[in-house]
Amino acid sequence: MKTSIQIGKIMDIPIKLHITFLLILPVFAWMFANTAGIFGFNDVKPDTLRYILSTSAAILLFACVLFHELGHSYVAKKHGTNIQSITLFLFGGVSAMEEIPRNPRIEFRMALAGPGVSLLIGLTLLIIWWFFKADESPYLHLVWLVGYINLVLFVFNLLPAFPMDGGRVLRAWLAGQMSYIKATRAAAGIGKMFAILMGVFGLIGLSPWFILIAFFIYIGASEEEKSTEVSLILEGVKIKDIMSKEVKSVNSGISIEELVDIMFKFKHMGYPVVDEGSLKGIVTFTDVQKVPKEERKNVKVSNVMTKELVTLKEEDDASIALKHMTMKNIGRIIVRDDNKMTGIVSRTDLLRAVELLE
Ligand code: ZN
Repeated sequence: MKTSIQIGKIMDIPIKLHITFLLILPVFAWMFANTAGIFGFNDVKPDTLRYILSTSAAILLFACVLFHELGHSYVAKKHGTNIQSITLFLFGGVSAMEEIPRNPRIEFRMALAGPGVSLLIGLTLLIIWWFFKADESPYLHLVWLVGYINLVLFVFNLLPAFPMDGGRVLRAWLAGQMSYIKATRAAAGIGKMFAILMGVFGLIGLSPWFILIAFFIYIGASEEEKSTEVSLILEGVKIKDIMSKEVKSVNSGISIEELVDIMFKFKHMGYPVVDEGSLKGIVTFTDVQKVPKEERKNVKVSNVMTKELVTLKEEDDASIALKHMTMKNIGRIIVRDDNKMTGIVSRTDLLRAVELLE
């Protein structure tokens, strides 16, 4: 299922909206419209103006999250890291990067760039508000609110815990004094402690938001630790050493029904499609599922296979395979030399290698 849509490109980076984002946007607008006092527009009359201001606040809030992410991306690009996309989620934005630099100096700058943008926008808006505050116009209230939210974004993102930017800043700082993996473990440990404290605080104060955020931080810290460990283990391991060489491939002309038989027989979930020695695509169980049972006799593999392939070379690093699999959510990658397939590497191959090397 497609869970996000692309709305455009900025600095050559595709900007995407996740489905959770489209759901939360009206909720935010509703909250702003029905909150009285300084954090909403409930006191504004007439209602049309109240709704326009509330909707604008919700949209601007997410635009500011996008600017925050662009701050990270700008610095990353300057240091040669390719940004695949920026996706806006329920809780903010995520930049998908090809290669997160393992250089503490660059990581430090990159992590600070996002909060830096938030701080800059926040201060600018609050200064504008301060100059005109005698007006007491509802539009000026919007300026104040968006400025304030940016300062909250700045502070929240600098909490010293993964997956927040502050966690990365902390790791980069620690990595200047110890090995990268030790720094990751230490930063993750601090993040978890922070999450537990926050959780306890949330339980005492019966604040579901605190508990939710604590949970989110705890998981983020554990995941960062695990994924750094795995990618460090895989570094220096070549694809050719872990790939499967004897690969069952299928012809693009066979029917889906025949493919299902092959799947049963060979018990793999995905197969490269090869015609006369040249690689045409890949077909997986997910593609089969899209074809209703009664039509499987008439539909050919060439109609459902994925033609735009992510492929690797034998000499590539195994950690790159892991990055591609995680980022694109795919289970296997074909290894090729020009147009000839030489093997396939799957998640299972990677896990096996990690277990053996650990
Ligand atoms: Zn950030």
